[in-house]
Parts: sequence; C-alpha cells; structure tokens
Amino acid sequence: MSLLVVGTVAFDALETPFGKTDKIVGGSATFISYAAAYFGIETRLVAVIGDDFYMDTIEDLQNRNVKTEGLQIKAGEKSFFWKGRYHDNMNQRDTLITDLNVLADFDPIIPDSYQGAQYAMLGNLTPTVQQQVLERLQERPKLVAMDTMNFWMEHTPNELNDVLKLVDMLIINDEEARQLSEEYSLVKAAKKIQGMGPKYLIIKKGEHGALLFHGDHVFFAPALPLEEVFDPTGAGDTFAGGFMGYLAKTDDLSFDNMKRAIIYGSALASFCVEKFGTERLSELNETIIQERVQQFVDLVRFDVEITV
Ligand code: AMP
Repeated sequence: MSLLVVGTVAFDALETPFGKTDKIVGGSATFISYAAAYFGIETRLVAVIGDDFYMDTIEDLQNRNVKTEGLQIKAGEKSFFWKGRYHDNMNQRDTLITDLNVLADFDPIIPDSYQGAQYAMLGNLTPTVQQQVLERLQERPKLVAMDTMNFWMEHTPNELNDVLKLVDMLIINDEEARQLSEEYSLVKAAKKIQGMGPKYLIIKKGEHGALLFHGDHVFFAPALPLEEVFDPTGAGDTFAGGFMGYLAKTDDLSFDNMKRAIIYGSALASFCVEKFGTERLSELNETIIQERVQQFVDLVRFDVEITV
C-alpha cells in the first residue's frame, strides 16, 4: 500500500523550558513521513523546500522508502521557517515567527508515479494547496485525512471550509477543534465538525490522549504518562503519520482497526517528544515500537465485573 503525504518540510527554531535551538529540521510532512515509514509502506512526499535545506535529511527519508519525486527544490529560495516557544506546562505554545518563504507560491506537483495512492494525509499546510493536491489525483484514495491549525482558521477560513468538505477525516487538537466549531464541549464540537465534511474526526489532547469520533461511535486512547517531555513539536504530525501508516499497512478501515491505528499513532508520538525535532523519531526500530505499543495496552487493560 502507499500513502501520499503533503505538508511542510521546514526549519524550526524552538524554545522549550529544557533548551533552545535556532535551526533544526521540522515541518508537518517531515514528521508524518518519518512516522509512516516504520510501517513498511511506500510514502510519497509532496512538498517544497529552498536550496538551503539539508540534503542529508532528504537522503535519510529516501532510504526509508519515502519517494521524493514530488518534492520541489527552489533554487535561490528559502525553506519554510517556523519559530515557537513553549510555556512551562509544555501543553501550550506561542508561534513567534511563521515565514512562508517557498510556501507562499507553492504549486504542488503530483508525479505520475504517485497516482493511485490508496491513502492520503494532507498535513498542516495552506488549505488551497491541500485542495489542489486532491484535485490533481486521478483516482480518489480510499481514505483522505487532513490536519490544519489556528493559523489557517484565522488567515484562510473560506479555503479551509472548502477543503474540509472533500476529506474523510480531520485530525486536530482540542484547542483547534474548539476554535473551528466555536463550541467548548468537544462532543458538540465533534458533531459540528462532522457536519462540515469529515465523517471521522480525531481530537488530540496532548498529554491527555486522543478521541476518535465517527457518527455515534467514540473511542478514547490515553497518552503514555512520560516522566519528561523534552520537545512536543511534531507530536501531532507524528501521531497522524503513525495512524495513517498503520491504516495503509493493514488496509482495513473498520472502526476497530482505527482504534489500533490510534494506539500506534500515540506510541510513535510518545517517542517524538523525547528529543528535539526528528532526532528520536529517526532512530527507532520495530522492536522498540512494539514494546511501546505493549506499554499502551498494559496501561488501559483492566477486568471489571459489573455488579450493580
Ligand atoms: P505540530 O507540533 O504537530 O503542530 O507540528 C509542528 C510542525 O509544524 C513544525 O515542525 C513546523 O515546521 C510546522 N508548522 C508550523 N506552523 C505551520 C503552518 N502554519 N503550516 C504548516 N506547517 C507548520
């Protein structure tokens, strides 16, 4: 199976209570691709970078069966740059800088070799580009999921509403769900958002886990209680990459399989936060991931006899 991924491949500058970095590799599509690649599927990356980007990162992704024919490199231009600062509780962050650079006039190219992808993850990116990617696919994938953020809700709300009508699933965090729906209750928010287009909705709640909504069905998965969260950047994208990677590998869109996919997404996200940027995410293997998934299973498994 193959997974088409569109999003940012970027440089980030971060300030967390544990330290500071001026320029490290980040971007929604980068985290999604690293996570999805662990599932032995073919990942097809659509993105744009400037010629300032690190080619060893691109080669590392290629070695993980991430195809890059759809990755445009703009000579003389700069890659997307984002700077964020985390609060002491690490659940909240402020965006300090968003420099669109190459993203400002990104016209996504879908190479012929990318056509026919069965799954698509539209990572956080300009909604018009997310829509263009969908329109340029000759065959609709079995499942199209997308992510977005407050930046696009505030700057391009109409374009965002248009693309929402075209996707099967939206994966966002609780703050974003509240902002998008103008509802505080996440249950009400979920109903409203499902009315905007996506039949499936995942609401991520950081250290408090994630909720999956589909019609009247709801599933909750916890996050692993970690002693230290070093850098939460990319955890949401990593979750999405793990979730979609698992679905693409298993090729089963039942609600029960989506529950399993959420556990895999959560497990991968729990690694992402252990080091800055993509560092921890790039050094995993199957055994380490399976052990972490087992920790999730043990965390929530209990027997109870209902006696009342
Ligand atoms: P997450 O922590 O999962 O929300 O993802 C953080 C990543 O998203 C960072 O590596 C940034 O480079 C990237 N990012 C930040 N702002 C945007 C934006 N407006 N559009 C697309 N990607 C972004």
